[in-house]
Amino acid sequence: MSVNSLPAPVVTPEVSTSSTSYVCASWCTDRDGHPDYVLRDDQACWGPEYITVLGLDEHAPAVGRPYEYGQPHLSVFAHRRWHQLPTIRLHAYRESSTEHLCVDHDFHLTADEALHLAAALIDVATMLGGAR
Ligand SMILES: [Zn+2]
Repeated sequence: MSVNSLPAPVVTPEVSTSSTSYVCASWCTDRDGHPDYVLRDDQACWGPEYITVLGLDEHAPAVGRPYEYGQPHLSVFAHRRWHQLPTIRLHAYRESSTEHLCVDHDFHLTADEALHLAAALIDVATMLGGAR
């Protein structure tokens, strides 16, 4: 039997489905690689959350009071799921006495979309004369 008549060897590629550590994004509030999370999908990096209370909405806190969980707000933060590109999450939250008006939703934006939204907000607020 010659070498040419032998069947081609089956090559099994080496596929690594695990790594020894997860490297956090520079802006992650944990920065420890999330070693205590059981599932990879939970090893997400979260940046600091910037909250804007919606003072004109139902259940808005009185002026001068600090934000408390459950008050109507918009918040933004950087977020990166395991093995994915970072995004900006815009969280909208509002409880209402009318059930179908309750909102608790995250919008996922690219950095370009977030910059576009930020510029639009600044333009409109400037057009109205700023904070008054
Ligand atoms: Zn992280």
